[in-house]
Amino acid sequence: MSRAIIWFRNDLRLADNPALIAALAAHDEVLPVYVLDPRQHGPSPFGFERSGPHRRKFLHEGLADLDEQLLAKGSALHAFAGQPADVLRRVARMWDASFVYTQGLNAREEVLQELEVSRELPLLLHGASTMLLPGDLPFGLRELPEVFTDFRKAVEKGSPVRDTLPEPVSIPTPREWRTRPLTVEELPIGKPRIDRRVVLDFQGGRAAALARLRHYLWDTRAIAFYKETRNGLIGADYSSKLSPWLASGALSPREVFHEVKRFESIHGGNESTYWMIFELLWRDYFQFIAAKHKSALFAAGGIRGSALRGKKEVELFERWINGRTGQPFIDANMRELAGTGWMSNRGRQCVASFLAHDLGLDWRMGAWWFERKLIDYDPCSNWGNWQYVAGVGNDPRQGRRFDPERQANTYDSDGAFTRLWNAD
Ligand SMILES: Cc1cc2nc3c(=O)[nH]c(=O)nc-3n(C[C@H](O)[C@H](O)[C@H](O)COP(=O)(O)OP(=O)(O)OC[C@H]3O[C@@H](n4cnc5c(N)ncnc54)[C@H](O)[C@@H]3O)c2cc1C
Repeated sequence: MSRAIIWFRNDLRLADNPALIAALAAHDEVLPVYVLDPRQHGPSPFGFERSGPHRRKFLHEGLADLDEQLLAKGSALHAFAGQPADVLRRVARMWDASFVYTQGLNAREEVLQELEVSRELPLLLHGASTMLLPGDLPFGLRELPEVFTDFRKAVEKGSPVRDTLPEPVSIPTPREWRTRPLTVEELPIGKPRIDRRVVLDFQGGRAAALARLRHYLWDTRAIAFYKETRNGLIGADYSSKLSPWLASGALSPREVFHEVKRFESIHGGNESTYWMIFELLWRDYFQFIAAKHKSALFAAGGIRGSALRGKKEVELFERWINGRTGQPFIDANMRELAGTGWMSNRGRQCVASFLAHDLGLDWRMGAWWFERKLIDYDPCSNWGNWQYVAGVGNDPRQGRRFDPERQANTYDSDGAFTRLWNAD
């Protein structure tokens, strides 16, 4: 009888889960575990806690949903708080498990967790946090282009998107292995207030992820107009809103890719359907950039090693986070983020540029704040995009400033968004 732990991370799903499939193929029983690492939820260098109520609520729902998925297969989720190496060592001892299988991740802290665990137990890493597998890229990580267009052109020529893996029929687990949710002390969520103006009623978990995918592709066919609407600011369907489920792994990027391809085969492809996959390539790109540049992704000088340094003025920063800078379009976006844990891509670019270029603050203060607030927080996408806008990352034009007035005139020409969020 051999047992292995399946350590769920940003892959809160059973379908298209290579680590789970590999564990089931090699062992008689598996033990599904999630570990909330307090180091990633406690205070940031700027004082505030790294996860806020909106993000915690979304995670909590995602874990409950994963447990339901597992229960339907005869298994259950044990969720714990602690350092993964300690928790997994204890579980392995107590339950006589000899291996840990998990999704390999790309950002600094996640890689460190893997290193710590591998000192305690044999750890087997499997891919699929990205649409393309690292081994299918036409270059090694060291040669990864620093300009997205070069990356895109190369992968579009010849890197395949692999088929998705089926959901296992059953998940053999010891009979005494029962659901253990995180306690309120381990993941305090309180009662997050979600502003009624939120673009979508975001619920964590796979059921909601699949419903959203169905809605955006099949029910409304909104994807067919994505390229024209993607810079929108108000409403549920100007963009896919899939990012929170992609970040938590309730949905895999390969699943989205193949569903878009299925849509194209039935309704025909166009610039918009292509653009959705183009954006998923941006997501992949930042994952690979994180793997390549490691700690530099989080350094003030960025992956360019720039000498530029922003100020750390708390009062200015507080005006930014509270939507009280006096620039109405910026304030509207920041209020949306504060009240909902969501902001459009256009908004994110503008407020990030405003913090770095207009206020002259250390861009990392903004990146940490986004980590706390965004329900789709992903270290690679977040820090990669922040660097890009701040001019210390992968933007070949380096530090382009988004003029907030011009942006508002172009993307909120009737002022509806600015009025909506500055109403109180
Ligand atoms: C300063 C800043 C911080 C950001 N932080 C995050 C973050 O923490 N998590 C996150 O998922 N995205 C982040 N983004 C990228 C982008 O804003 C969001 O992915 C997008 O707004 C999510 O909305 P959507 O799902 O409707 O995207 P769509 O426009 O429908 O795009 C489809 C998918 O493509 C991916 N994608 C789109 N744009 C980008 C991009 N610029 N970079 C990486 N992936 C992209 C996302 O997975 C998205 O779900 C950030 C952007 C900026 C400018």
